[in-house]
Amino acid sequence: EFADVGLIGLAVMGENLALNMESRGFRVAVFNRTTSRVDDFIQGRAKGKRFIGAHDLKEFVGSLQKPRKIVMLVKAGAAVDQLIDQLLPLLEPGDILIDGGNSLFTDTIRRTKRVEESGMLFVGSGVSGGEEGALNGPSLMPGGSVAAWPHIKPIFQAIAARTPDGEPCCDWMGENGAGHFVKMVHNGIEYGDIQLIGETYDVMKRVLGMSNAEMHDVFAEWNSAELDSYLIEITRDILGFVDKNGEATVDKILDAAGQKGTGKWTVIEALDEGTPLTLISEAVFARALSAGKEERVQASKQLKPVVSEFKGERKQLIDDLRQALYASKIISYAQGYQLMRAAAKTYQWNLNYGGIALVWRAGCIIRSAFLGDIKKAFERDPQLVNLLLDPFFRDAVSTRQAGWRRAIVAAVQSGIPVPCMSAALSYFDGYRAERLPANLLQAQRDFFGAHTYERIDQPRGQFFHTDWTGHGGATTSRSYSA
Ligand code: NDP
Repeated sequence: EFADVGLIGLAVMGENLALNMESRGFRVAVFNRTTSRVDDFIQGRAKGKRFIGAHDLKEFVGSLQKPRKIVMLVKAGAAVDQLIDQLLPLLEPGDILIDGGNSLFTDTIRRTKRVEESGMLFVGSGVSGGEEGALNGPSLMPGGSVAAWPHIKPIFQAIAARTPDGEPCCDWMGENGAGHFVKMVHNGIEYGDIQLIGETYDVMKRVLGMSNAEMHDVFAEWNSAELDSYLIEITRDILGFVDKNGEATVDKILDAAGQKGTGKWTVIEALDEGTPLTLISEAVFARALSAGKEERVQASKQLKPVVSEFKGERKQLIDDLRQALYASKIISYAQGYQLMRAAAKTYQWNLNYGGIALVWRAGCIIRSAFLGDIKKAFERDPQLVNLLLDPFFRDAVSTRQAGWRRAIVAAVQSGIPVPCMSAALSYFDGYRAERLPANLLQAQRDFFGAHTYERIDQPRGQFFHTDWTGHGGATTSRSYSA
């Protein structure tokens, strides 16, 4: 009997995803480069289940029902290309190769083209939810050769997480790299959400001197309302966690953040698109700043902030922080969606923005009740230009504005960094500004480089140059740019 689907890469993600597929009734063939892992798996967690363990790629490919569906969950990067090289000669037209790793979407664009040119189909799928999600239901973001979707849909939607309404958190994202692109933005948003919670924690801890137990209770309360989300939930649990000596583990962890690069990719893409993804950018840089621990320790001895003691109402500040966190989160998603709109234009994807919110609603790290509201916003207007212009989010931000500003002021006066919250507020104040100081900027550019400017009293698209010093010429710049 042939397997319904094959899986290559029995590390943490592959093993759990294979078990998930089998548990939904699919017969799964598995292969791993180091074949002892295949034996360990078949004799271990897979024992008594409907798996086929293969010891080479030929045997593996031969065990699959046609058109073959092969999920690769191997280390992102060169390993994926090597595996494609090895598999293509063994496959037949119509077979489907699926890369479920964290591949860079531009690699997926390239690989889709290459695999399609060989007559096979390629899918790059974002898989989110870590080990636990892979086993019990991840959020899946597939994109690539559209002809592959009807074949993989029954499997993908069966193994995916489900929203509270029972809808699968898996939908077709679009052509070539669209799935991996959406997964990349998901990860960027994850960086932002995590940093926002960290800033809130820092203010509670260092401005208000709250204990872990007190903060645990606050996060527990927040998790039962508008901020209901996986990351708030685990923050609550982390703050409540003590080791066997009764000590809080969170207090023992070195404050130097790691990163694997997907946040950085998101920011690079935003810079390339020229869209202001300020909150996620600050989150990536906040990790970088934290990573230089020794230098910070040295600097802390020399650079003392001038701070004023917090004299406000404690309860008020806690509530202001809740509002600041929520409002900032709206900004982060508004910016993330703006990036997706820009990239969709560049790469000619027809992204389904409401569908993306639905796919993120459960299974993944950024899952939250909030994403249900984003889904509704795109149901109201599928072409919504900015989340802030949706009536629900517009009102949500405006009613929280005062608390949001107070929370940032309290942090600033106490010398606590809140890069994401303040970047969010600056973006909001910039986006809602009819007039920004870019008039002066344009004047400077024209002054030093004859870059020309447009005028408010003339139609757009007409460019003017002023001889600011009286001894410049009338020649304007076309090539020099700064
Ligand atoms: P790793 O990223 O650690 O990759 C290990 C697997 O890749 C092993 O099966 C290894 O085989 C295989 N591999 C490495 N190089 C090659 C090669 N040249 N040819 C064939 N196979 C190779 O595993 P994870 O399970 O952590 O992640 C798998 C993918 O899923 C990655 O792209 C990761 O970014 C992504 N991902 C991971 C998440 C997580 O929480 N860990 C969450 C979401 C996505 P061998 O045993 O022979 O070394």
